Amino acid sequence: MNELRFHSTRSASPVVSVGEALEAGLAPDGGLFIPETVPQVDFGALPDSSFQYCSKAYLSQWLQGTEFEKHVDALVDNALNFDVPLVEVEAGTFVLELFHGPTLSFKDFGARMMARMLGMRIASRGSSAIILVATSGDTGSAVADGFSGVPGIDVVLLYPKGGVSPIQEHQLIVKRPGVRALQVEGTFDDCQKLVKGAFDDSALEDLPLSTANSINVGRLIPQMLYYVWAVKVLQRNDVRVCVPSGNLGNLTASLWAHLSGMPVSGFIAAHNDNDFFPEYLCDPDAAFKTSVQTFSNAMDVGAPSNFERLAAMLDFGKMTSLIQGVSISNEETLESMQSVLNRTGYLADPHTAVGLEALSRFKPEMPKEQPALVVSTAHPAKFPETCEKTGMVAPVPEQLKRLAGMEEEVTTIAADAGAFRQVLLDLHQA
Ligand SMILES: *Cc1c(COP(=O)(O)O)cnc(C)c1O
Repeated sequence: MNELRFHSTRSASPVVSVGEALEAGLAPDGGLFIPETVPQVDFGALPDSSFQYCSKAYLSQWLQGTEFEKHVDALVDNALNFDVPLVEVEAGTFVLELFHGPTLSFKDFGARMMARMLGMRIASRGSSAIILVATSGDTGSAVADGFSGVPGIDVVLLYPKGGVSPIQEHQLIVKRPGVRALQVEGTFDDCQKLVKGAFDDSALEDLPLSTANSINVGRLIPQMLYYVWAVKVLQRNDVRVCVPSGNLGNLTASLWAHLSGMPVSGFIAAHNDNDFFPEYLCDPDAAFKTSVQTFSNAMDVGAPSNFERLAAMLDFGKMTSLIQGVSISNEETLESMQSVLNRTGYLADPHTAVGLEALSRFKPEMPKEQPALVVSTAHPAKFPETCEKTGMVAPVPEQLKRLAGMEEEVTTIAADAGAFRQVLLDLHQA
């Protein structure tokens, strides 16, 4: 098999290695990196003895011939050292719990592995990096936790003031070595714009900027692993995969897994009121929107950055045959949390509830024996205020108890490129 290489969504050249794509984040022409050819994996030959074994076998095939080839086992052992339970909440409906990592969301998979891959590359080249990350809630803490203390790497994270839950905010701004937290007076899309803008800012061209948003391939590669594992365990080739979506990184990762050989019957993109993508799937002329706040705040994205990847890899006909989109309102999200709990005893967080509700729209037309997989993207204890509205209390996991009372550190800035530039220049000079 040829070594994995990436090119930009906007042009077929230049072609870069996985290490180069990881370090650059964004392609030089402003596009996103996509595989030149998607590696083909013999799905039947993957072991199903444990998530970690399965992941090592799958990842080895993707990273064959790259600078990370010899490190696959260590990467999986160190970065993905937590459980990934598959829970059958109702007959044929499986929830894959991706929230057992240190910051209690699926973002831990991508952030932890990306940190280790980038750390290896930087150490071997004697270079350094400043990681910029805009967060709508969970990315920032996963990245801060995953990258903190990696030599040669500084992290600057931006989040929308008032746009994250109090627990998410505490997780974001707990003081960590090498991490700077910025509260931005604006929306998530403003934060994302500041990050994108920094890459085009000539005053910052000497800074070793990179990003750990889901535009980075280092995030997407590990996110394929849990889909592969779940489909492997279910031992079916007709699983319907439902992904609570915002920036569409998680959906893109599952698409990559599918294109590499993971058999599924199709995908459901479950969105909240931020419904650009479901609209697009009905009307290719639909335009990006301004984001609105919802209970599933990590999905409050009006202009999903990974849309560009999906559109570059699938033509409209292929996309609509493979992916169905649904938008679930705030009220329906609460109702879903409540009815799932009443029916099954399962406490879903607001993001997972969007997924379960989206699935329920398709269940009636699905064959009875066809399994559905909903990825559960966050632990309900991260959203006690929303859980409370439905009369539920989520048990507080160890990971949160440990954070309580820890010192916080945060700077507030305007949603303004000049203010952000100054923070970066000061950091670089320090
Ligand atoms: C980030 C996030 C999502 C959305 O994932 P995307 O890859 O941005 O589509 C969904 N749920 C939770 C809890 C998240 O943190």
